[in-house]
Amino acid sequence: MTRKFAFVISVFHVVHFAFAQLSYFYPTAGSMNAVIPTPEQFLGYAIGSHHTRHDKLVEYFKELDRLSDRVTVQVIGTTYEHRQQIAATFTSTSNHSRIEEIRANHLAGQNTGATESVPLVIHLGYNVHGNEPSSSEAAMLTAYYLTASESDETLKWLNEMVILMDPNINPDGRDRHSNWANMHKASPPVADPLDREHTEVWPGGRFNHYWFDLNRDWFLGIHPETRNRIRFFHLWRPYIQTDHHEMGSSSTFYFDPGKSSSNNPIVPEYLYNTIYPKFGEYYADAMNQLGSMYFTKEAFDKLYPGYGSSYINFYGGAGFLFEQGSSRGHVQETTTIPLTFAFTIRNQFAASLATIRASIVEKAQLLKMRREFFRAASEIARKSPIKGYVFGTDTDQSRLKDFIDLLLMHHVDVYELINSVTAGGERFERGRSFYVPTDQSNYIMVRSLFEKDITYTDSLFYDASTWSVIHAFGLPFAELRSPLQRGRQVTNYNVATKPVELSNYVYAFELTDYKAHNAIYQLQKGGAIVQTAFRPFTVQLPDGVKNFGYGSITVPVHLQRLSPDSLYRLINNVSVNSNITIHSIRTGYNAGGVDLGSTFIRTVKQPQAMMLVGQGVVPMEAGEIWHLLDQRIQMPITKLDILNFNRADLNRYNTIIMVSGNYTLLDTVAKGKLKAWVQHGGTLITIKTAAEWAIKNGFTKEKLLPADTIKPKIPLRFDFDDAINIEGAKALGGSIFAVDLDTTHPIGFGFTRRRISVYKNNQTFLQPSANPYNTVAKYASNPLIGGYLHPASLKKIRNAGSILVGNEGSGRVVFFADSPNFRGTWYSTNKLFLNALFFGSLITVPSVNEY
Ligand SMILES: [Zn+2]
Repeated sequence: MTRKFAFVISVFHVVHFAFAQLSYFYPTAGSMNAVIPTPEQFLGYAIGSHHTRHDKLVEYFKELDRLSDRVTVQVIGTTYEHRQQIAATFTSTSNHSRIEEIRANHLAGQNTGATESVPLVIHLGYNVHGNEPSSSEAAMLTAYYLTASESDETLKWLNEMVILMDPNINPDGRDRHSNWANMHKASPPVADPLDREHTEVWPGGRFNHYWFDLNRDWFLGIHPETRNRIRFFHLWRPYIQTDHHEMGSSSTFYFDPGKSSSNNPIVPEYLYNTIYPKFGEYYADAMNQLGSMYFTKEAFDKLYPGYGSSYINFYGGAGFLFEQGSSRGHVQETTTIPLTFAFTIRNQFAASLATIRASIVEKAQLLKMRREFFRAASEIARKSPIKGYVFGTDTDQSRLKDFIDLLLMHHVDVYELINSVTAGGERFERGRSFYVPTDQSNYIMVRSLFEKDITYTDSLFYDASTWSVIHAFGLPFAELRSPLQRGRQVTNYNVATKPVELSNYVYAFELTDYKAHNAIYQLQKGGAIVQTAFRPFTVQLPDGVKNFGYGSITVPVHLQRLSPDSLYRLINNVSVNSNITIHSIRTGYNAGGVDLGSTFIRTVKQPQAMMLVGQGVVPMEAGEIWHLLDQRIQMPITKLDILNFNRADLNRYNTIIMVSGNYTLLDTVAKGKLKAWVQHGGTLITIKTAAEWAIKNGFTKEKLLPADTIKPKIPLRFDFDDAINIEGAKALGGSIFAVDLDTTHPIGFGFTRRRISVYKNNQTFLQPSANPYNTVAKYASNPLIGGYLHPASLKKIRNAGSILVGNEGSGRVVFFADSPNFRGTWYSTNKLFLNALFFGSLITVPSVNEY
């Protein structure tokens, strides 16, 4: 059927309810341009009666662009699943004709807020969590309204504003959920909360393709959806950024201001004290008119810079969070009347118009906010004893590159060093180290990236309490008390590798680079036999003596099924693709350490890995591993659904991974099967609560720390209403701890220092192993590096192990108390996980002799 014909049919169908829809969503809209189709006219169903597929939403926006000079739609990227990310711009025809000039004038007034005569730029964002679908439907209603309305108010908005819109921040997740809701929709609809329509299967639509929460990714920029969006954000630097969500079905509606005690303490407070309460009045008005119930101030924080409603705060704008009680499906019972999808959409739509209305009326306040932000930021920078940061490494260019890319994504100014410097007891070499001065316009973001100790007035955290990414990357860095002279400004950083020379004996590379495991896997996949050094060695190379540390990789030329020529071609390709320098060695008789034919040089088995996924498993932790292996190692991993475990042939895997989850679906037969597989030589890698599960289910002799047995003599008694604060403060929401890592253990291979940082956001406390060689990492005696920690947790952490290996039969279980792959950002600890995956089968139990 042609589209034209479809349109005729749909107009015929919808005309009778188009009026009902208009009066429900736009009761006071007045005259609308009849040329512009309403969403329901275009889609052929009433908004709220169906979940709109992303491709249909994109088509609708493109249709508005085609029909109206008020709208342009651009594609800003594509998702992993090849869905288009679009950004729409709404402004008057004459503004559209000089849009680049407006953008330039707007940006020119950035730091001063001197943009009185420039149209006000704001950005509306929707549906970052795919199964919170009301807001993308509201985005279409808002787009229709801005395109079709002929009211004076709308014309004023279009003349005096540039309204940017991302109607669907998470297209892959939204479609996952929309298909679920649509495929189970009944007629008449079923409101029973336990109906299949309302109980989405694992992993649910909240996440993106790799099961990541995109509403944490604004700061980390791991995914293309985020990177494309942040590029667009910095093109425009809006004054306002909105972020629309949903919450539990029995909740009402939430808008900012949020909890004042959890405003970010390094963001100038003018923003929180003025803009949020003022805009709150507009949202309250909008909800009062609809008779919708709402709350403010009692929940949600703006501490972490990675939310859609907080990122902008670090650039002098105001981010607004909306949370609508969810119908999750088309209608659902609540503690009051049934909640319909249309009702949830209407609140989000009303809030969208209220944002636009508030922004233009309060324009003077917004300009003042921006002026005040940059004034206060530069004053704080001037008063701070820290004048800059220097960071760098000689041993891992891949990590250095990704960290610099992250800084540049956030528009942080980075400079080369003019001379090598020593700071904080570290040597930073010119060429491999870089300088970030605090005297720069994006100082507040600089601080967020480097600072670990921020003082909070509240001990209840919605999420992490620290996020210093320099620790996540594990790069050596130092704070500087006086500024350095700036070298050339860095606009990109390219990894330099030396071409590989042909060898007739051995090729070798160190394990220190982030991409070393990628190189190992590509070599194995290409058919090469790869070995790893359990003891260091020193080689005389043509250009000098080189030390190869624990875990260095050797590839002997004549112990291969490949010809020397084929091997050389493979080695070359891998070196180029992984950006790893691979050395040619001509003799096995080493200048120091073990020789290349030593028994300490052992063959690495190619990982045949499987990860349990499905009901009960924490999707984000599983997704972090899937993403790591797919995107960074280019290695396949089987994602085995727990429901299929009993019929799987485990012999085809040498490594099985279990992330946090409850695993109640694994029955006695399943547990027996898994134990037998470990006993026969398998490597079981367990993370956080999966480690607890393995211990409690008798997979190992290793133990958890015993629970505190000291009970107060007189039972404690508190007021009922204090429970949230007292109990919430005990949670370990996410802090950074120092551990001592055994770098001679295969899991510690490739680390150049024993003291590393780990991220802990859980209550898994492992008892150090009875075998003195099996506690691979143990928390330092003074472990807290950054973030909030309840005193009761500190005592436990001091006594606990962070990584243990239990040798069981011919196999082994690896226990990670903390996730080494947190949010795709913990580059430093990823290596621990990858070592367990690649070298697990080489870990044997050292025998312990009694004295
Ligand atoms: Zn949400």
